Amino acid sequence: MAMIDVIRADEHDRLDICAADDCDGLVLDLSRNRSRRYCSTTCGNREAVAAYRARQRG
Ligand SMILES: [Zn+2]
Repeated sequence: MAMIDVIRADEHDRLDICAADDCDGLVLDLSRNRSRRYCSTTCGNREAVAAYRARQRG
């Protein structure tokens, strides 16, 4: 699907910036429950590890 088609379909609220701090990747969330926050599983995994380490530090 082309990006312009998403915008034309008034679905731009599904477009977001990757939730990872050091990433500006675009996230196109086509999931039904809007659960997508990262541009890739790489970012998701990296953030999960960072959150885990933050918890370990207290
Ligand atoms: Zn990312």
